[in-house]
Amino acid sequence: MLSVDVFTSDYKPIAATTPGWDLRQRATWPASTATLVHGRREAALVDSLITTAEAENLTEWIRAKDKVLTTVYVTHGHADHFLGLSVVLDAFPDAVAMALPEVVPYAQEQLSAHYLAYWESLFPGQLPARTVAPRPLAGDVITVEGHEVRPVRVGQSDTHPSSVVHVPDLDAVVGGDVAYNGIHMWLAQTDHDARLRWLTALDTVAALAPRRLVAGHQDPSASDADADGIIAASRRYLTDFDAAVAAGSDAADVIGAMTAAHGERGNPYTLFASASAQYPLPADGEDAAR
Ligand SMILES: [Zn+2]
Repeated sequence: MLSVDVFTSDYKPIAATTPGWDLRQRATWPASTATLVHGRREAALVDSLITTAEAENLTEWIRAKDKVLTTVYVTHGHADHFLGLSVVLDAFPDAVAMALPEVVPYAQEQLSAHYLAYWESLFPGQLPARTVAPRPLAGDVITVEGHEVRPVRVGQSDTHPSSVVHVPDLDAVVGGDVAYNGIHMWLAQTDHDARLRWLTALDTVAALAPRRLVAGHQDPSASDADADGIIAASRRYLTDFDAAVAAGSDAADVIGAMTAAHGERGNPYTLFASASAQYPLPADGEDAAR
């Protein structure tokens, strides 16, 4: 019998890099999850957070469960889901870090000097000194004590290519950034077409008929037990954002409309960055690094 346990790292202060943010408010990075799928003895981890401190806390949490960590699976190539990998692998040197073959180049790109400088600017002095990229997953199944744990390609989420992890034994999906739970969705790298593809990705998750859905970004107070509700709310957020961009003439319009409809979600800086990216300023106003 498998179990799924979720480690949630809270909102983290960051340096605000998108021009126009009201500096009286603290910019934060969304709360993030790492998920342990485990049997009696063996375990696989899905995603591994970003800062040294939170990866160390994650490592302690895994250690306390007294399992053999065999695999760390990375859902997509955004550094906030795998820069903590070196800390985890230092603690569990026999574990192998893997991602879909098509995700690996994007993960490697995040470890380039250009991107690392960007992440360092957000989290000065807080990132692991050593970086590790996941290796290409061979085949399409991870096994935990003989039970299948299946990466599922979903195409577009907050980036492309993205995946989720299906745990059929538990009717659970570990959703990477395809669904968000109680937190504004990162739409800064999407246009109308990408948002339509993202809706299709949510259809792919819905077709797995999960009961439990763990979002990569999940408010610490949110429950992962209502998968249908989380999928529906993510769909609504995407369509509302798309409509707000179509109807609005600047970022403030979109922020106003989305705050009215989804203002209970955490991490308003995400909404600010997502809305700002839809109306790029000339020259230095672009925030293309994520
Ligand atoms: Zn993310």
